[in-house]
Amino acid sequence: MIDLTNKVALITGASRGLGAGLAKRFLQRGLRVAACARSQPELAGDASKALAVAADVTDAEAMQRLCDTTTERFGRIDLWINNAGLLAPIGPLHDNDAAAFARHIEVNVVGVFNGSRTFIRHLHARGGEGVLLNISSGAARNAYAGWSAYCAGKAAVDRMSESIALEEANRGLRVHAVAPGIIDTDMQAMIRDCSPEQFPRVQKFLDLKANDGFSSTTFVADRLLDLAFDPNQSQQAVALSLPLEEARSALA
Ligand code: NDP
Repeated sequence: MIDLTNKVALITGASRGLGAGLAKRFLQRGLRVAACARSQPELAGDASKALAVAADVTDAEAMQRLCDTTTERFGRIDLWINNAGLLAPIGPLHDNDAAAFARHIEVNVVGVFNGSRTFIRHLHARGGEGVLLNISSGAARNAYAGWSAYCAGKAAVDRMSESIALEEANRGLRVHAVAPGIIDTDMQAMIRDCSPEQFPRVQKFLDLKANDGFSSTTFVADRLLDLAFDPNQSQQAVALSLPLEEARSALA
């Protein structure tokens, strides 16, 4: 395994689900970790290596404060992961509430913009290299009935990431929009609770649960660390998908 002991990672949306799992695994692998969500994340392990902050990704100033606090505490940020995201509103667009749709874009798109801009400015100020991982989805690359907000937002994250890659190619930043596979989180529970009228593909997700067809957060975390820090992976496309964790996936 690559030596990660001097690396610093910042993860948004880390109070539960994938973000919490990433933070836990990164700490186990020896990184220093800053984590935020609207509710302050709980990070187990060596407190000297962990920083948990309550911050909303839609608040640009809060993202800058988080960056500043992390830099004061750990000296630098090597890896920034924009993971915070919403699924709602679910259901046919003609039934969607306009304010809920706008809030979705504010979190899933403007939130990624806020985090990306903050990290890019951090890199420009300190010089040297850094990796930005924006958590995307298969929904960025395929349309699904009932998920118009989610598909639109994640497609925007893919294109935003590709634009950043062009802008920052010669300034030390590598960026990827990563579809992480399927992980059994609160978001998955929300999907399984949908009626077929809201989300016609719901049975696939009920089958995934019945067959434990998910990737673990540990598996996803290790793939993301390889992507960020293994020099052999530095030539990958900007928008990419992680494989499902085959040992656990009966439906992959
Ligand atoms: P969860 O709903 O389980 O967790 C979402 C996290 O984001 C929580 O920690 C939540 O904390 C935080 N969050 C939500 N809104 C904000 C906000 N405005 N500011 C800061 N933090 C916020 O989702 P998952 O863990 O399943 O998803 C994580 C990411 O992975 C998302 O981007 C999702 O789209 C993506 N993804 C997930 C897949 C899956 O199978 N689970 C598949 C493909 C992509 P709090 O409420 O305290 O703010």
